[in-house]
Amino acid sequence: MDRALQEFPVVIIGAGSTGAALACDLALRGFPVTVLERGEVSSGTTGRNHALLHSGARYVVHDPASARECFEENRVLRRLAPEVIEPTGGLFVALDAADLDYLPEFLEGCREAGMDVRPISPRQALDQVPALNPQILAAVPVPDAVFDPYRLTASWLATAQAAGARVLTYVRVEGLEAGPPPAGVRSRAGDARARIVVRAQSLASGRELVFPAAVVANCAGPWAPQIGALAGVKVPVVPSAGVLVALEGRLANKVINHLHPPGDGDILVPQRQISLAGTTSWVAESPDQVPVPRDHVERLRELASRLVPAARFAPLRAAYSACRPLVADNVAADGREISRGFRVFNHGQSGLFTVAGGKTATSRAMAESAGDAICAFLGVERPCRTRVTPLVSYRRFRADPWEVQGIGK
Ligand SMILES: Cc1cc2nc3c(=O)[nH]c(=O)nc-3n(C[C@H](O)[C@H](O)[C@H](O)COP(=O)(O)OP(=O)(O)OC[C@H]3O[C@@H](n4cnc5c(N)ncnc54)[C@H](O)[C@@H]3O)c2cc1C
Repeated sequence: MDRALQEFPVVIIGAGSTGAALACDLALRGFPVTVLERGEVSSGTTGRNHALLHSGARYVVHDPASARECFEENRVLRRLAPEVIEPTGGLFVALDAADLDYLPEFLEGCREAGMDVRPISPRQALDQVPALNPQILAAVPVPDAVFDPYRLTASWLATAQAAGARVLTYVRVEGLEAGPPPAGVRSRAGDARARIVVRAQSLASGRELVFPAAVVANCAGPWAPQIGALAGVKVPVVPSAGVLVALEGRLANKVINHLHPPGDGDILVPQRQISLAGTTSWVAESPDQVPVPRDHVERLRELASRLVPAARFAPLRAAYSACRPLVADNVAADGREISRGFRVFNHGQSGLFTVAGGKTATSRAMAESAGDAICAFLGVERPCRTRVTPLVSYRRFRADPWEVQGIGK
């Protein structure tokens, strides 16, 4: 461990894919990292997503920057974490004349994003995926893949732990205070205000815990505004809710996408022995109370069955919802038009940062960007290593027992 960095303890709030990837990034750079998570790892949005390792093709026309980011990270993650990825491939399929009209724009967008994709005939597509709607008019293979969100997040954390990080679960952050540098934490010369204290509670014991930090990274996903409010800062994150429907059986071995502008029910993803149909989009009042409207479930099944007819009859295994933490200043009608890009906010000299937006598939890039910003803030130069460091197996991850670490008050 880099002794010079020991005076810069970093606390990360939230162990979803964003916080886990950032823990990995900063621990590999040599920082002493502590992750605080109020529940289990991945118990927020990350554990309830579609599990799609985006190729980026969904965004090539309307959000080309996100498309390029997804495509780049898709290739990086396949290299670093093959254990948690199933390289299924994906197909975009046209169902009607409007979809065919969209095809040239789509192909041009893919080309601009760096994706070398070519249409195949409907017959070839049906040979690859016999369960496809036999009426499709066109098909384009894309490098989509499927990942396991829990295992990917646990792999980020296992890699962080191997580099010295600690991960404390069932610890809820309840206060953030700018304060004098606690013992053992010195601010860098000329920047005596780079100091912050995190107050938290162990939900296992009720004990109050205190964590002095040089930097605190708010990676609380759709709850990021609540964490910001603890420090009196406004965090422009919109909780954009969506429903997912899990149908019994692996209806198709590839990710099947509807070839049209992003909309409801345009994808069916194979995940082990189920198929995930999704999704809808609306702005939730609170990330803690996201309903699963019955009409969304029925509509998703109906739309999925246009792609793969067997979806109409597959038994329903589960229906659930989660909130995308999207970055936007204004709350839009349904959240679809908000970019899937990410932002790193430096909230000023207290040392509080927020990392929000993006996707699980781009969590490494989000962490790299946040890690660079944190190094610049602290005035240290440590290169990012996550682009080239293979991840430690998720099987090695264990939450650290905080009781034995003597960090309680
Ligand atoms: C329906 C849907 C489908 C999606 N599909 C995909 C997909 O297929 N592929 C993809 O790449 N992305 C997908 N996404 C997006 C992706 O899931 C999110 O961008 C990502 O999971 C956000 O991760 P996060 O770590 O920022 O937030 P979260 O996973 O929500 O993590 C935040 C964590 O902070 C913790 N926390 C909150 N408050 C506190 C506190 N006070 N103290 C301590 N801890 C706290 C929470 O418990 C939580 O674990 C989807 C999103 C939705 C909603």
